Amino acid sequence: MVAASQLGQSEQVTFLIIGAGFSGLGAAIRLKQAGYTDMIILERAGDVGGTWRDNTYPGCRCDVQSNLYSYSFAPKADWSESFPSQPELWAYLRSVTSKHGLRRFLRFGHEVTAAGWEAASGRWRVTTTAGSFTARYLIAAVGALVEPSLPDIPGIESFAGTIMHSARWDHGWQAAGRQVAVVGTGASAIQIVPSIQPDARHLTVFQRTAPFVVPHTNHRVKPQVKALYRVMPASQRASRIAIYWMRELLALGFVKNPKILKRAELAWRKHMESAIADPVMRAQLTPTYDLGCKRVLPSNEYYPAIARDNVSLVTEKIIEFRPDALVTADGAAHPVDTVILATGFHVADNPTFGKITGKSGETLASAFGATYLGTVVPGFPNYFQLTGANTGLGHSSMLLMIESQLNFIADGIAKTLGAGAPFEVRPEVSAGYNAELQRKLPKTVWGSGCSSWYLDSEGRNLTLWPGFTFDFRRRTREFRTGDFTIG
Ligand code: NAP
Repeated sequence: MVAASQLGQSEQVTFLIIGAGFSGLGAAIRLKQAGYTDMIILERAGDVGGTWRDNTYPGCRCDVQSNLYSYSFAPKADWSESFPSQPELWAYLRSVTSKHGLRRFLRFGHEVTAAGWEAASGRWRVTTTAGSFTARYLIAAVGALVEPSLPDIPGIESFAGTIMHSARWDHGWQAAGRQVAVVGTGASAIQIVPSIQPDARHLTVFQRTAPFVVPHTNHRVKPQVKALYRVMPASQRASRIAIYWMRELLALGFVKNPKILKRAELAWRKHMESAIADPVMRAQLTPTYDLGCKRVLPSNEYYPAIARDNVSLVTEKIIEFRPDALVTADGAAHPVDTVILATGFHVADNPTFGKITGKSGETLASAFGATYLGTVVPGFPNYFQLTGANTGLGHSSMLLMIESQLNFIADGIAKTLGAGAPFEVRPEVSAGYNAELQRKLPKTVWGSGCSSWYLDSEGRNLTLWPGFTFDFRRRTREFRTGDFTIG
């Protein structure tokens, strides 16, 4: 059989999902469970997994517990460790894909180049690098931490050694004998640094802003515990619930009363000072903002690695790349043969948002701030977004937010599929909602005066949910038809 795309025609489906990470796969499972199978999942890469496929740097691990950082409907009794490593998470996603029979819906190597709403046909028209599609519903599950953000430093293109972003790890590269620079000290860097430090000849860590690095409680899961989870699944559910509430308490500090987090600062100081004896380095590693304002990073290995003889911590700004060195504002040239850019991602300015256009031609990039419940956008009919605006968390598992969104999407589809006409969120509903969030956000710890990727260029936080996850769950339980125009 010849596929429509090979004939230059569009394939038509009811549901088109973009992305096969945690949220896209979750959406497909939810649709299938509801009895909808007329769907295609477009994936630009050659495998499922999203961020857990792309981030293969050494030491990569989730900082939320395995029992909570997994789908509630697909528990895994035999996690090796209490916090999942990247290889195990990626394997989990591949196994869920197969177990739920999703392979037949997947189209790998299909990168979306444009997606636009066509009022005349009442469908989304989506073009990809490998064919075009039309669909009644578009579900964008394109992820938030996808597009590497590269620093704009003069001379970077002239660097003669190896240069790679943390999310594009070159596994042919070995640290042994190398003079390495790690640029950045965020969640990725603090896992990379201790992983390569023992082998590197010299490691220079370029820190722009000191992070709060706190103790990690990761441990191997005992065989008896795995056996218990296997024979008594309720015990793993109980563990998940306990972790859930422990983490939910943290939200009190992040969003309700940042003063609560002051106690955590004491624990951080003890952790840092137990590994770092040098007063100058202690001062360099001391953040100048409130704990929680930027992401809090768990690691027991980072500070000890920084203290090793083959590591230098540089806090001067990088002003120039030379073929064999990085030059800082104090005029020092730091000789390196490898640069690892652990410099983060384009989050609120994800380039994919510029490729999705609503009914008046407006791009999602410009409408992003008008998203309602992180999931629907005025002017974007029959469109759902996963992990959209203000769905990020500083304290718990993104799976909680994704599954809440999936409840909302499933209800929305059930209520609109039979209508025969597209739905659209009322602009006044979305405006009221976003005004409420932007009133709350400056009072949270994230608004306490640091620069972070949580904030856009105008200082607005379009990234994080300013509350408890159970509050988001409650608000997304029902697709209230009164909030929408249908037809
Ligand atoms: P990130 O948190 O955005 O950190 C980027 C780092 O690069 C920051 O230290 C930043 O400094 C620095 N930087 C950026 N541009 C620079 C420049 N031009 N010169 C010098 N330094 C520069 O990125 P990430 O570490 O990849 O983490 C992103 C997110 O991914 C995390 O917040 C987390 O949500 C997720 N993640 C999670 C895990 C986990 O679960 N364990 C692991 C990795 C990533 P400033 O702080 O001054 O901006």
